[in-house]
Amino acid sequence: MALIVQKYGGTSVDGPERVKNVARRVVETKRAGNQVVVVVSAPGDTTDKLIAMAKEITSNPPARELDMLMATGEQMSIALLAMAIQELGEPVISLTGAQVGILTDGVHTKARILEVSCDRLRRELDAGRIVIVAGFQGVTCDNEITTLGRGGSDTTAVAVAAALKAEVCQIYTDVDGVYTADPRIVPGARKLATISYDEMLELASLGAQVLQPRSVEFAKLHGVVLEVRSSFNYHEGTLVKEVNDMERQMVVTGVAGDRNVARIAIYDVPDRPGIAKVLFEALARESINVDMIVQSAMRDGVNDIAFTVARDDLAKALEVTQKAKEEIGATSVAYDDKVAKVSIVGAGMITNPGVAAGMFACLAEEGINIHMISTSEIKVSCIIDEEHLARAMRALHKWFGLD
Ligand code: ASP
Ligand code: MG
Repeated sequence: MALIVQKYGGTSVDGPERVKNVARRVVETKRAGNQVVVVVSAPGDTTDKLIAMAKEITSNPPARELDMLMATGEQMSIALLAMAIQELGEPVISLTGAQVGILTDGVHTKARILEVSCDRLRRELDAGRIVIVAGFQGVTCDNEITTLGRGGSDTTAVAVAAALKAEVCQIYTDVDGVYTADPRIVPGARKLATISYDEMLELASLGAQVLQPRSVEFAKLHGVVLEVRSSFNYHEGTLVKEVNDMERQMVVTGVAGDRNVARIAIYDVPDRPGIAKVLFEALARESINVDMIVQSAMRDGVNDIAFTVARDDLAKALEVTQKAKEEIGATSVAYDDKVAKVSIVGAGMITNPGVAAGMFACLAEEGINIHMISTSEIKVSCIIDEEHLARAMRALHKWFGLD
């Protein structure tokens, strides 16, 4: 008898018909002779609506109470799904994160899982029940309810799968796998049969919405094999696992685009030690994530620094940068929020030189100007004008033979 963890995302449990559909699939899996633990998200855009409700009361809701509120979304899903499974005649029980014993740190709204207790889960499974677990939530050692950051149900599922040493962790969503690019933008995109943890992590961090990046990190750390599938059909999905070099067929595995990018430049920064420290420490203190950083060559004792942040953080980042400008004696600050980031990802890059050059050649051929570049071992990203993003993605997809 195999133990399978299944996670169903918000769209899969949005409304009674969809909940019943999920119930049927879960029961099928159980009746095929498996033990099943199901992790669910809040229905549809419930979490967004809960946050909006809080914002109607206060522009700055206290994080503890926001967690208390947000955690209710997933509780709706577990109860309704348990009822639907009961209707189909299978023994089932729903459990909150706290009831399972999903222990987290105390960082409200972005808590990290420290430990998942298996006692209750095992007891329920041994009693022959399907166990439904609320995703996205946990509890601190002081019994405070926490949530794991947006999209956190994926991480709950992986953590539960790791703790129970499940055979596989199936992530059911509204797309039937991981694609070489977003098919809505790149019509020639193909579904990948497998992808490595590292590549998936890059794609997830670069704006592919399929999995929460932290869940991929967690899966890699614990060797949990993920299977991304659709809850609306029975197509084969994509396996996320360790992939060795022999199995690798393409140098580039995927193309990603991200519009949630803004670029800030600070001009005539004195060229002396400690300047970057002042600016970037100030940004870090405000929890602003800086992605790319470029410093120009020195001229007359000054240089320019440009960097990118998420567009959501732009207003705050500008404020911080203006303040830092005074402190470090730079002359001016400018920004551009009409940029986007296009990236290519592939573990094959490590052993194949010239991939970055290929990307630049492709963009040049399209007449697309590159503002900034950054690379890691397995990805190259370029900041370009947002209006060219879709065209850049399609051209790169073709250039690297992914069509
Ligand atoms: N309901 C939460 C969210 O919308 C968690 C999740 O869907 O994974 O972010
Ligand atoms: Mg969600």
